[in-house]
Amino acid sequence: MKIGVLALQGAFIEHRKILEGIGVKTFEIRQKKDLLKNMNGIILPGGESTTIGKLLRDLDMFEDLRYKIIEGLPAFGTCAGLILLAKNVEKGQSHLGIMDITAKRNAYGRQLGSFFTEAEFKGIGKIPMTFIRAPYITTTGKEVEILSEVEGHIVAAKEKNILVTSFHPELTQSNSVHKYFIESFINKK
Ligand code: GLN
Repeated sequence: MKIGVLALQGAFIEHRKILEGIGVKTFEIRQKKDLLKNMNGIILPGGESTTIGKLLRDLDMFEDLRYKIIEGLPAFGTCAGLILLAKNVEKGQSHLGIMDITAKRNAYGRQLGSFFTEAEFKGIGKIPMTFIRAPYITTTGKEVEILSEVEGHIVAAKEKNILVTSFHPELTQSNSVHKYFIESFINKK
């Protein structure tokens, strides 16, 4: 079992730490050739979606990454990663455009947009959630299953091989969402 963590910008080290902590090997994806390595899944971390999207294009990784996920590679996007995976971005540019959701960027406001809460996550239970200038999901396609809502806004969902959260599970003490990704998206295959 090996998980690739997109490491162009943002909070990728934290994802590696959580995964290594539950005994899952990881490696960083920094250039096009890293996408050729064997991996059982991929993480698209939080950070700045515009920057990561631009780097993916500049480094000529965009199409290969997109194709791998469309082909079925299990993918977990957090925060900016959710925005990168979304088919639609409200009043903004979409990037990989794979998952049938609309993401609203900086949905909680630019300055006051960081907060911590605890909420139910379907299939896991109540978990801690850290939001940092987070998006939320405003529309979902037929195949999308909603996994968590906070104050009436969708903050986690899945569609086929893709899991997204608008919060940062890698920045909390809980590894439950990473375990869920490994168990429900990779091991069961
Ligand atoms: N606001 C950022 C964006 O639009 C996402 C923030 C995050 O990943 N913590 O890309």
